[in-house]
Amino acid sequence: MELRKDPITRSWVMTGDDPTESSPRSEGACRFCPDARDATQVIAALPSASGWSARSMVHPTPLYHIEGEPGRRGDGIYDRMSSVGAHEVLVENPRHDRQLWQASDDEIGQFLRLAAERILDLKRDPRIKYVSLYKDYGPNAGQEFSHPTSQVTATMFVPRRVLYELRAGREYFQAKERCVFCDILAQEERQASRVIEARGDYVALGPYAPRVPYETWIIPRNHEASFERTGLSKPGLRTNLAALLRRTLQRIRTVTEGFHLVLHTSPNSLHPSKTLGYWKTIDDDYHWHIEIMPVLAAKARSYTFKEVYYSPVSSETAVKQLREAKIDG
Ligand SMILES: [Zn+2]
Ligand SMILES: [Zn+2]
Ligand SMILES: [Zn+2]
Repeated sequence: MELRKDPITRSWVMTGDDPTESSPRSEGACRFCPDARDATQVIAALPSASGWSARSMVHPTPLYHIEGEPGRRGDGIYDRMSSVGAHEVLVENPRHDRQLWQASDDEIGQFLRLAAERILDLKRDPRIKYVSLYKDYGPNAGQEFSHPTSQVTATMFVPRRVLYELRAGREYFQAKERCVFCDILAQEERQASRVIEARGDYVALGPYAPRVPYETWIIPRNHEASFERTGLSKPGLRTNLAALLRRTLQRIRTVTEGFHLVLHTSPNSLHPSKTLGYWKTIDDDYHWHIEIMPVLAAKARSYTFKEVYYSPVSSETAVKQLREAKIDG
């Protein structure tokens, strides 16, 4: 597998002929339970009275490898490089049957803390431009393991969607001297028609222009570009955000089982790039957030094959339904 850059959209694509892709994957015994026999190497763990509360492990079949050189090179007008980076599995809970929406706020808080620590640690490598944290849950969402896990990838490039956000955030700030995310949040809280719930400094809302039905964002009220910085310095993240995340996932699961969850945080500004302008203003014009994209099997077709996102449930209706959903508490 290698990375190729689309010269038009400037997005990197991982492509190649993967021999493992055609054979069905069988998971066998769980590799992430505390007593697993074929566990991969543990990278970091947060201790608890009974052993560990959350830990990070090497992905058994990583997309990115730490060894080697990216070897970025031209190919006529094109760009390509090897998939050098890091790929880790974050085990959210030692218990196989305790997903994020079933865990205690304390357990979710530990997972968030581990995520912040891993992102910060991976950013110490000056070659790393961006660290992604994501979770795919449900058979239609590409879930890989049955154990409660999220994944972390560290890459030599900034993923496309984040790049769009960084460019847009910088342009908005240049024009208005304000953060676009702060402005969105202020208007949403004033209008209140798309706010699902607020907990302390964190707000869950339906975006004005959703890409899929029931799309939900979780945004901190206070301006902060980097999740990992807040994650390690503000205790509220590990209590209020944990509770809001748990309750929001419970709400979404009253509508559908599967979802994609992704954290959008600032790129690796410990080692600023000389060519990318947004690196200089990142602390002012970017604002971290979590995006949750529910997967509705029945409606998948309608937005997968269209060039324009088609979301047949309005955010206002979706938010009303999610707000009124019966959840455990
Ligand atoms: Zn397990
Ligand atoms: Zn902001
Ligand atoms: Zn985003």
